[in-house]
Amino acid sequence: MNAHPTKDSLAAEAEQRLREIEASSKPLKPKERLKIPLQAMPAQDPSVRRRNISEVALGYSPEQARLEALRCLQCKNAPCIAGCPVRINIPAFIKAIIEGNNAEAIAIIKRTSLLPAVCGRVCPQEVQCQAPCTVGRTLKDVGLAVSIGRLERFAADWEQAEHRTKAPPVKPATGKKVAVIGSGPAGITVAADVRREGHAVTIFEAFHKPGGVMVYGIPEFRLPKLIVQKEVDTLKAMGVELVANFVVGRTRALHDLLDKDGFDAVFIGTGAGLPKFMNIEGENLVGVFSANEYLTRANLMRAYDLGKAHTPIFRSHKVAVLGGGNVAMDAARMAVRLGAEEVHIVYRRTEVEMPARVEEVAHAREEGIIFHLLQNAKRVLGNAEGRVTGLECLKYRLGEPDESGRRRPVEIPGSELVMPLDTVIVAIGNESNPLIKQTTIGLDTDRWGRIIVDENGKTSLPRVYAGGDIVLGAATVILAMGEGRRAAAAINRLLVQ
Ligand code: FAD
Ligand code: SF4
Ligand code: SF4
Repeated sequence: MNAHPTKDSLAAEAEQRLREIEASSKPLKPKERLKIPLQAMPAQDPSVRRRNISEVALGYSPEQARLEALRCLQCKNAPCIAGCPVRINIPAFIKAIIEGNNAEAIAIIKRTSLLPAVCGRVCPQEVQCQAPCTVGRTLKDVGLAVSIGRLERFAADWEQAEHRTKAPPVKPATGKKVAVIGSGPAGITVAADVRREGHAVTIFEAFHKPGGVMVYGIPEFRLPKLIVQKEVDTLKAMGVELVANFVVGRTRALHDLLDKDGFDAVFIGTGAGLPKFMNIEGENLVGVFSANEYLTRANLMRAYDLGKAHTPIFRSHKVAVLGGGNVAMDAARMAVRLGAEEVHIVYRRTEVEMPARVEEVAHAREEGIIFHLLQNAKRVLGNAEGRVTGLECLKYRLGEPDESGRRRPVEIPGSELVMPLDTVIVAIGNESNPLIKQTTIGLDTDRWGRIIVDENGKTSLPRVYAGGDIVLGAATVILAMGEGRRAAAAINRLLVQ
């Protein structure tokens, strides 16, 4: 068996290769660039990381980053830019990395993206910026595209390591006040962009810690909490006020913020935190969790810190996670770290249709998670004490494409099978929390409870804007950030009128 490559061995290999390239004084031709091997992301050894919560991907060394950057063809039309929801000037920041000018690289990225250390880690790059990359297309494998996300992470981590992160300047006070509801990526972005213009900003957050799903959903082993904390600290340094344990719709009605508390505008960025269930028999047995509860307990309440956690999760031995997205992978990989001996993913389509990031699926497999594709839960089985004892499943085959364009899973009658288990985690998606809608007269939503907005993020109510998952349904960090930027620009325009 091949030894797991270490960060040092990958750096040394890259350094050697760079030296060979630099020994020739001629600029690299496109053909030569295409021959540079894709730089693997150094990662913790799977057998070690199964038992710790620390970040799995360790980040490129400067040598690996420069070598990976040299794979970029600096295309004139740069199709990668159109694949990025916030249109980062990708070839320009990659060129800066080639030149060893990391300060310039991060400055270019930050012109359009507020959270590069986060997006470099969690963006689904393979379906965004890296999907149209000319290198991947020429080599006929999207997996061989230039690793734009990893390079973005490199530049952002370099800035943090060099202590060069500075709070952006804030214009003189305007006397206007904006309330931001929710401190996920959408809320953080709005707070920063509105505060920059000199308006006072207060963020109201329901949980005791800010950061939204970046803190309570995405686990530490994928996105260290310190990174999100630093973004929140930057907001505080800019003068943004943060009020935790404040549930708008319960602690205070949205209308009161505008009519009684003197806020001139409100942004709703409350996300999609309401878990969906399968509605199958046995789903109320002890040992069935929503992925939200499981991950929130592990992340926010530190249930992985066995012995010290205030709200520990009971010790599971055999776990099934239902679903094939990032949430399912996170829950399965968390279950491994919480000590489960066997963890199974049950997904009704094939790996091709799985919405999870490719890297998460690969990491989950490396960590020993067992995949049951074209299979779905029919009912949860329990004992006389009401505890989970197993899962009855059905086998599926793929039929014709459905409205999402993915081939519809069709059940195979009589294919029932039983998996003996003690825990089932449901990770089949999230919907909008209805609280604000129920307590805010005149706020229009669609039939899924998503807030309806115009092209500027404005809702049906005057001076009320919304963005992120509460508008898009469960989406991505970068899309939430993009929505936040758009709404903040509109709020800033409103407040100068
Ligand atoms: P959120 O991040 O959900 O933040 C909303 C905030 O509002 C929360 O802090 C909530 O407590 C607060 N809130 C809610 N109601 C109220 C109220 N009434 N009053 C006050 N505060 C309130 N995306 C990716 O791009 N890549 C990934 O790898 C990825 N993995 C994910 C893994 C998991 C487990 C989950 C759950 C999601 C993942 N996502 C991923 C999706 C991504 O995290 C979300 O799309 C993004 O966080 C949405 O941002 P948001 O600001 O709209 O909402
Ligand atoms: Fe790619 Fe996301 Fe960075 Fe845009 S923000 S360049 S999509 S990794
Ligand atoms: Fe570089 Fe790929 Fe973008 Fe071309 S498409 S500029 S090769 S990252």
